[in-house]
Formats: sequence, structure tokens, C-alpha cells
Amino acid sequence: VSVPGDAALGPGREFDLIRSLIQRWGAAAVGIGDDAALLRVPRGETLLASVDANVEGIHFQRDWFAPDEIGYRAVTAALSDLAAMAARPLGMLISLTVPESWMHELGRVADGIGEAATRFQSPILGGNMAAAVELSITTTVLGAAFAPLMRGGARDGDAVYVTGLLGGPGAALAHLQRGEEAGDGRPRLAKPVARLSEARWLADAGAMCAIDISDGLVADLGHVAAASNVHVEVEASAIPVFPSASLADALQGGDEYELVVTSPAALDTEAFARRFGVPLTKIGRVVGGPPTVDVRGARVADAKGYDHFSR
Ligand SMILES: [Mg+2]
Repeated sequence: VSVPGDAALGPGREFDLIRSLIQRWGAAAVGIGDDAALLRVPRGETLLASVDANVEGIHFQRDWFAPDEIGYRAVTAALSDLAAMAARPLGMLISLTVPESWMHELGRVADGIGEAATRFQSPILGGNMAAAVELSITTTVLGAAFAPLMRGGARDGDAVYVTGLLGGPGAALAHLQRGEEAGDGRPRLAKPVARLSEARWLADAGAMCAIDISDGLVADLGHVAAASNVHVEVEASAIPVFPSASLADALQGGDEYELVVTSPAALDTEAFARRFGVPLTKIGRVVGGPPTVDVRGARVADAKGYDHFSR
């Protein structure tokens, strides 16, 4: 069922639930009220769409996060794909599957979704809800861009830059998977940032290619190398590593949602840091050669990153 408008909702538990979510979202939910959402794309811009599923037991364990963090990070991960294209969010559709055992926490999950919608200025336009055996949050994000950045935009001679400090989420996740406290990297894992404003700044400054780090720096640069048919060289000593993380966490850890960009023009890293309060670091270059990634000065035992279907 599409989420009907709050005024038009009929009786029944499902609609009571939806009504309560819309109420909790307040101004974060916009234009919900018909069978489908209406979007206006500015003339001359391109519509971008992406969908991302976050499933209990696969992407997270229930006891790792507070319910609002589960909602927040699911939506932010989806929005990060718009950042990777330097797009501005127009809004999103939220599809929830909810087991009975989660019903009493559903409001708090929704609060996290609403918090991310507000922070990243991406209104909730509609959605869907179904009963299921595990909690899942599937977010469809819709955005617009005049000149989207693509993975295939890297060229021989470009410099490679990364936003932020890497390895925090990977280190925290490794701790959680061993049954330990998540440590200092926990906020980076539980409340990631979609670098939407940063991406548009980078595109305006001359970046021609971008990807967000969801699977790991080396793995995601591998996608750039393949899509652009270029070779990428990264200097291990240049990688900005999160204080309590290792170089391996920084090279291979996923769930970063930092951006990697390539640019033919030098980017003003100090101006970026002043504007956004996070570093922008030159970590390597694009050179001629096979479409792969080399990390100079580090042994990368397994640079494959997160593979959704590996066992
Ligand atoms: Mg991505």
C-alpha cells in the first residue's frame, strides 16, 4: 500500500501506524497525500534515483544500535549515493518491513529516519509498510543535478582526494562483530554523514569523478578504475586514518560514506576544511595502466572490500 495522506487515512491498525509515523515526522514528511508522490525537477537538470536496502541480521544486528540509529544510518547510506553523484536530494520513499517484535520500537526507528531527512534536507515523500520476519528499511532516494559526477569520469593525470578520516566505522564494526564495545569509531558507524554539500563544492571546484566509500576505499576505487578504465595509485602514507583505527581499517573498512573524487585541477584542501570542518586529503593519482588500484607502501592482504554475496 502506498502511504496515503494523513487526512485521507481510513480506519485500521496499519493506517494507525502510518498516521503515527507521519505525525512523528512532522515537517520532514512533505506532500504525502495521494497514490504517488509528485516531484518537480528543475529545468535542465537530470533526475537521479537510487535504492538501498538495510536488513536486520545482514546489515546490522539489533543489539548494536539504538532504534533511531538504525533508521538514521539506513537513510543516510542511501543519501550518500546521491552525494556520490553530486546531486541535490529532492526527497525519498521509505519502505519498511516490520516484525511484531519491533512494533513497540517502530516510532523510534522513524524518529531516526526523520532526523536524517531533516539534517540532509531530503523530505519523506511516501513509502510502504509490510509485516515481515525481520526489520528492513529500504530507501529510494531521488535527486537532481545539472552535471552529475560519474564513476567513469577519471582521466590519466588526475589527482585523487578523499574527504574525512577513514577507518572509524570499520574499526567499530570489527569490535562489534567480536562482541566487544564499539569504541571511538562508534559515532561514525551509528550516525554517518552523507557528504551532500561537500560533493557539490567539490564538483564546482573541478572534480570530474566521484564515488562514496560504502564497501571500502580500495574496493570503491576499484569501481572507479574499472568504470574509467584507468589505473589508480594510492600512497599509504597519505591516507588520513581515524585516530583509533588501523591503516587496514582505513583501506578496507566499509560504511564510511566519505567521498573519493578525482580532479584534473588541484583542489583547495584548506578552503574545503575551513568550509566543512573535515579534511580533504590528496591520497594518490590516476595513471596509465591496467584498470586496477595499487596501494604503495602498504601490504593489503585483502583489498576486495565488502562483497554482499560472499560467504
Ligand atoms: Mg555508492
